[in-house]
Amino acid sequence: MALSITKACIACFACKEVCPKGAVSSAGNNFSIIEHRCDECESLGKGPQCAQICPVETAIVDAKGQAFNPPGSLTGLPQDPNVIAFSS
Ligand code: SF4
Ligand code: SF4
Repeated sequence: MALSITKACIACFACKEVCPKGAVSSAGNNFSIIEHRCDECESLGKGPQCAQICPVETAIVDAKGQAFNPPGSLTGLPQDPNVIAFSS
């Protein structure tokens, strides 16, 4: 099992820095996870380090395509993309 990086990625390099397996690959601004290297951080026992540090919702997903940081989980903003939140 391995995680994947989606097109939501902003190429911040954070996941590449923390991955204990050297499983994050980058070619320019295109980031991906090398499947055979990724053990979903089972050896650490602290959960996927890449997903925990990633600042972008939906950028890292599991094998089923489920985002570790789903819409609204980091920003607290509404999930409906047509809704614009204003602060006073
Ligand atoms: S889950 Fe762990 S091993 Fe897999 S890419 Fe992320 S940081 Fe690396
Ligand atoms: S931490 Fe998230 S946004 Fe940054 S490079 Fe990795 S997947 Fe992309």
